[in-house]
Amino acid sequence: MFIGTRPGRDDKPNEDYVIAALSATSVRAVLLDGAGGPSELPTGCHHGTPWYVNQLGDSVMFRLRDPRTALTTALAQAVDDVARLHRVRCDLDDPGTPSSTVVMVRCANGLVEYLVLGDSTFVADVGGKAETISDRRIESVGANLWQEMAVLPTGTPEHQAARIRFVENQRRMRNKRAGGYPIASNDPGAAYEALTGSFPAGQVRRVALLSDGATRYVEFGLGTFADALDLLGSATPERLFEQVRAAEASDPAGERWPRAKHRDDIAAAYLPMRLDET
Ligand SMILES: [Zn+2]
Repeated sequence: MFIGTRPGRDDKPNEDYVIAALSATSVRAVLLDGAGGPSELPTGCHHGTPWYVNQLGDSVMFRLRDPRTALTTALAQAVDDVARLHRVRCDLDDPGTPSSTVVMVRCANGLVEYLVLGDSTFVADVGGKAETISDRRIESVGANLWQEMAVLPTGTPEHQAARIRFVENQRRMRNKRAGGYPIASNDPGAAYEALTGSFPAGQVRRVALLSDGATRYVEFGLGTFADALDLLGSATPERLFEQVRAAEASDPAGERWPRAKHRDDIAAAYLPMRLDET
């Protein structure tokens, strides 16, 4: 088993969060990629996105302990838990209130169950083939604004201004039924919009949870998802992070790989699913 995360920048706290637990009878893991947005934009929250993802991740893990609790229910309850914690002091109606992608897995009672909300990715080695589940609904929101940002060199004031316009629009569309996209924030109902499914445990050898900072490994053409599983399961799993950082450094202006941030937070979890091998 491996879990790891690294911040994208030295001067900003990590907004990715990953947590996992193995026991004799179950495997549970949750990975979150919080959306804090550029510091120029207000959020209405005194706690901040790193606090939000920590609270939400811990609450989800706690609620996943009972195998009778569905993954969607666990997430909905956890979203409600965190909303209660900061509703008193924070304006949860602010469009910039912290939000997060969620990818979670639980292996218990002969099933590997997963849930994906937002553009983090679940990878399962099913019968030797890497199956991937990622929720890309967010990408259809403001695609024109993304294009306007993508053509500008990363690190310039013009790119940052375009990124702010893109994020402001994304924030307005969070959990909007018409033309929007579901994400974990303060609406427990979003949990029921997540992509969910399961595999018989006997068919799944290993799984990985990846934030979009980590799936740059595949998007940048450094390897396939099967390669990512092999690397994360090797003696040197952090080489995946190092290879992504090296690729980012080789393209500082985002000409080869246009992106919102030069370096993004990275998080990954790798879990062997045969309990006797963990
Ligand atoms: Zn708050």
